[in-house]
Amino acid sequence: MRLAACSAVFIIAVGSTALVGWFTGSPALIQLLPHLPPMTRNAALCFMLCGVALWILARGGPRWTVVACACVVGLLAALTLCQIFLRLDIGIDELLGSSYIAVKLVRPGRMAPVTAACFLMAAIGLGLAPRTLSKLSALWLGIDGSIIAALGLAATVGFWGGVMLAALHTAVSLSVLGIGLLALAWHVDDDPVGTPPWLPASAAIGVVAITMGLWRAVVAGGHSPFALLPSIVLGGGCLMAPVLGLTVYLAQRAHTQAAALRRSGEFLTEAQRLSRTGSFSWRVSTDTVTYSEQTYRTHGFDSTLPVTLDLIATRVHPDDLPLLREMVRLARGPGSDLDQEYRLLMPDLTVKYLHLVARATRDPEGQREYVGAIQDITQRWLAEEALGKVRSELAHVARVTSLGVLTASIAHEVSQPLAGIVTNASTCLRMLAAEPPNVEGAMETARRTIRDGNRASDVIAGLRTLFVKRAATTESVDLNEAAREVIALSRSELQRGRVVLRVELAGDLPSVAGDRVQLQQVILNLLLNASDAMHEVDDRPRQLTIQTAHGEGADGGGVCLAVRDAGVGLDPRTMERLFEAFYTTKSWGMGIGLSVSRSIVESHRGRLWAAANDGPGATFSFSIPREAQVLAGNLDAALATPMPAD
Ligand code: ADP
Repeated sequence: MRLAACSAVFIIAVGSTALVGWFTGSPALIQLLPHLPPMTRNAALCFMLCGVALWILARGGPRWTVVACACVVGLLAALTLCQIFLRLDIGIDELLGSSYIAVKLVRPGRMAPVTAACFLMAAIGLGLAPRTLSKLSALWLGIDGSIIAALGLAATVGFWGGVMLAALHTAVSLSVLGIGLLALAWHVDDDPVGTPPWLPASAAIGVVAITMGLWRAVVAGGHSPFALLPSIVLGGGCLMAPVLGLTVYLAQRAHTQAAALRRSGEFLTEAQRLSRTGSFSWRVSTDTVTYSEQTYRTHGFDSTLPVTLDLIATRVHPDDLPLLREMVRLARGPGSDLDQEYRLLMPDLTVKYLHLVARATRDPEGQREYVGAIQDITQRWLAEEALGKVRSELAHVARVTSLGVLTASIAHEVSQPLAGIVTNASTCLRMLAAEPPNVEGAMETARRTIRDGNRASDVIAGLRTLFVKRAATTESVDLNEAAREVIALSRSELQRGRVVLRVELAGDLPSVAGDRVQLQQVILNLLLNASDAMHEVDDRPRQLTIQTAHGEGADGGGVCLAVRDAGVGLDPRTMERLFEAFYTTKSWGMGIGLSVSRSIVESHRGRLWAAANDGPGATFSFSIPREAQVLAGNLDAALATPMPAD
C-alpha cells in the first residue's frame, strides 16, 4: 500500500505542477524543454484526480470521493476519445481555458489518444476498486495497471526516438499511475500468500510495450520498419514476452507450492507440539535416524545433534533398555511393525512415558525403513496409574467382600455335616464302650459319619462351580478378535510388567461357538499368569507370545490358542496339580484361575493343557472345536453338562 500511496503523491505533484505552469504561464513547468510537447491542462487535472483517488484507496477515506474523481476522469477521457475518433469538437479541450502556448500537439490543448485511453482505464479501475478483498477485482486492477504502466513505458521509450506518443512527464506519470494500480491490486487480493495470477500477463505486456516503443524509435531513427534491426527488435521482443510470462508463471507456481508446503509444515509442527507426538524415521541398513522437531523436544536432545541408536540409549530408562534392544533386534530381523511403550530417564531424573508405533516401509533404494511416531503419554500414563490404583483397591474390596460371603456360606454349608460327624462319632464311641458293645449300632453311626463326610466334600467341590455360575450364552466367537480385545485390556498391565508382547494370530481362523466373555476370562487368566511367571526374570527379555492356529491332530480340526512365556517354567513334580482348585505358588494367588479356566474350556468341549518349553518358560494352550463341529453335535447339551471335577 505504501507503493500505491507514493505513486499517488508523485502524480499529484506532477499534475499540480503542470496546472500551476498553465495558470502562471511558465512553459518550463508544462513542457520541461522547449522542443517537447506539453502536458495538457486536462491531463494535469486527470493526474491530480487519479492521484487523489489512489491515495484515498491506499490510505483510507470516504469512498464517494474516489467514485467522484474516477467519474470526472473517465468522462474527460471518454469525451476526448470521442473528439479524436469521431472528429467532433465539443469544446472539452478548452475546459480550463484556451490554449496559448504554440507547441506541437495533436490539436492545440488536446490530450494524446494514448493518454486519454490510459485515463479511461484508470478511471474504471479506480471506480470499481472494492472495499473488500477479492480475487476478481485484483485481477482486473492488475491487468488494468499493467496496460497503463506498459503504455506509459512505451510512450517514454519513444522519447529517445523522437516519436513521442505523449509528453515525456505525461508518459512517466502514466507509468507511475500504472505501478500504483498494480500495487493496489496486490493489496486487494484476498490470498496474500500466493502471488497474483495477473503477474505473468503483466510481465508479458510490459515486454511487448517496451518492444513496441523500441521498434518505433528504431524506425523513427531512419530504419525501414522491416529492415534487419527493427525486425530483430520486434521479433525478439515478441518472443521474449511469452517466454518471460511463462517464466514468471512457473516461478509463481513454485512459490505458491513452496508457500503451501511451508504452511502445511507449520501446521504439522504445531499439531505435533499440541498432541505431543513427534515423528521419526530409521533406515535399518545404515542406522540413520531422523527426528522431527517435536521428537527432539520429547527426548530433550539439542536439535543440532545427529541422532544415533547409541544416543537414544543414553536417554532410555535403564530398566527399559532390554525392552528397546529386543525391539531393535526384532525390527532388524523379520521386520514386523513396531508398537512399544517405554520410558525415558531425563537428565533432571524425571521419567517420561512414551508410546512408539512404526511401520516398516522401503526407502527409495529399496532398503527397509521404519517410519513412525513417538507420543509422550506421561500424563495419560499417570492418570491411568491413578485409575489403576483405585481399581485395584476396589477389586481388593470386592474380593474381600466375596470371600466374606464365601466363608459364611462355607461355614453354613459345612457346619451341618461336621456337627453330624461329631455327634455320630461320639455315639459310635459310646456304643463301642458299652458292655456289651453295640456293634450293630456303632456300624450304623459309622456309616452315617461317612455320609456326612461325603456331604461336606460335595459342598467344597460345588464351590468351584460358584465361580463360573453365570448363565452361559452361546454365540459365534472369533477367537482372534476376542484375543485382541483382551490384549488391549491388559496392555498397560503387561507394559507395567515390562513384557515384550508378540501377537501371531492366524488368518482365516474359523469361529467357535461359545460364551465370548468366558473364553476371554480364560485368555486373560493365561496372559496374566504368563506375565506373573516372568515377574522375576531379569536376565532375558520377558517375551510373551500369543498365538492362534487351526487345531490339528487329536483335536479334530478345531481352533487352538497358545500363550507362551519365558518365565520360571513348570516343575514336573507339580504339573499334575496346576489345575487343582486352590493350588497356587504365589503369595497373592488364589489358585482358582486355572481350574476355572479348565472348567470353562471343557464346557466348550475343548481341552486346556500346559507344557514346558524347550527353552525357559511354559506354554499354556487350549483348543476348542469349530462352530460347525459343535453345531453338528449338541452344544447346548455340552454347556449343560456339569463341570468336571479336578
Ligand atoms: P493363581 O494365579 O492365583 O496362582 P492359577 O490357578 O491361575 O492361580 O495358577 C495356579 C498355579 O499354576 C500358579 O500359582 C503357578 O504356580 C502355576 N502357573 C500358572 N501359570 C503358569 C506359568 N505360565 N508358568 C509357570 N507356572 C504357572
